[in-house]
Amino acid sequence: MRLVILGAGESGVGTALLGKKEGYDIFVSDFGSISEKYQQILNNEKIEWEQQQHTESKILNADVVVKSPGIPDKAPIVKKLHEKGIKVISEIEFVYQFAKNTSIAITGSNGKTTTTMLTYHLLKQEGLNVGLAGNIGESYGKQVVLDPEKLFVLELSSFQLDGNINYNPHIAIITNISPDHLDRYDYKYENYIASKFRITMNQTSEDYLIYDADDEAINNWLKNNQTKAQLVPFSLTKKFEKGAYLEDNNIIAMINNEKMTVPVAEIAIEGKHNVKNAMAATLVAQMMRVRKQTIRESLSNFQNAEHRLEKVAKINKVQYINDSKATNVNATYFALESMNTPTVWIVGGVDKGNDYDELMSFVNEKVKAIICLGIDNTKIINAFSPIVDLIVEASSMEEAVKLASKASEEGDTVLLSPACASFDLFTSYEDRGTQFKNEVQKL
Ligand code: ADP
Repeated sequence: MRLVILGAGESGVGTALLGKKEGYDIFVSDFGSISEKYQQILNNEKIEWEQQQHTESKILNADVVVKSPGIPDKAPIVKKLHEKGIKVISEIEFVYQFAKNTSIAITGSNGKTTTTMLTYHLLKQEGLNVGLAGNIGESYGKQVVLDPEKLFVLELSSFQLDGNINYNPHIAIITNISPDHLDRYDYKYENYIASKFRITMNQTSEDYLIYDADDEAINNWLKNNQTKAQLVPFSLTKKFEKGAYLEDNNIIAMINNEKMTVPVAEIAIEGKHNVKNAMAATLVAQMMRVRKQTIRESLSNFQNAEHRLEKVAKINKVQYINDSKATNVNATYFALESMNTPTVWIVGGVDKGNDYDELMSFVNEKVKAIICLGIDNTKIINAFSPIVDLIVEASSMEEAVKLASKASEEGDTVLLSPACASFDLFTSYEDRGTQFKNEVQKL
């Protein structure tokens, strides 16, 4: 069998290693350049590769193609593969066939990484043989080569789900759905929603779908479509016999008539959105029979990844918070919601068709000044100038942090939560968050 891998990043190279072990004839092709580290791994394994081109004669004879989620279906080489009827699948679809254990898969517009890391943490603390993969960490393929018995917690983007055909997670989570990446979905929100629900398309009645029952898009889909999985909702406002809900500021999680109580105050990560993420992770842990004590301890000692409502420093009694990962309006909504002191808000970047209406009441109530940090700030200025007196523009992170520090006083919070992509002034959201932290330290 000839396996062609398009895209030689962490997941492509990991897939190549697994394919090699399983006896495939492999060719790796990347239209960009392949990092030296990966070139070396491929050379060591005697796997043929190319960069800066896609040689059709070596690609169009594949039996199966694993495509990096970053390559759109519209790319010419992918179109040709489709025309020839060659199967184009995701890394997950290829790798899961060789994994011995079931997996837990997590998708959603926001909260994927946090929920994935938290779920992994809860299972790991219990001593289970668990791995973390998908959009995060080391590649799934490479880890399956090392230990096919592991129980994997996989973070899946909609692009990864698009390349899944038979993959079925034993437990799936949809954290929430709000418009994002619509350029890859013909600007149709329903296509993006359908992509998220691919996570459950192969589940059976023995599997579970955990989802946010406060989410309109999710509820609508479930009303009009079918899944065979057992539905396990969580909510901040409703109660369930099976699922998770809030009662007297405790999370109550009910699975198979087993009740678990976690005081919200004990959860290490703050904000209502993180209560939801904790609910989802707790439900998984209960399904996997993690002890209650482990669940509570793990929720209280969990450390989230960088750039997600990350407390950076307190300077002159002003708290600085890095939420650079908030690349859409919904993520920023929860950041603003969790602010409980007057806030100087650094916002802006590449607009993704943002609608700022849903932020208005929080901005009105909590934001004393706005620092716009983007090349084109017109939309932000137009949206918020009627309700915020001080709106200024900055053209670098250094300037933004200085202006924010000037605009703030004792007891305030300076929040970087851009609601936009970072590519106008930064190389990535990580770069943006790191620059923010460096500039704050300089204060
Ligand atoms: P993802 O991997 O889906 O991008 P992250 O966990 O990295 O999600 O969080 C991305 C951003 O969304 C952060 O700004 C974070 O504070 C915010 N966020 C996290 N969980 C949720 C949630 N359940 N709902 C809305 N926003 C969230």
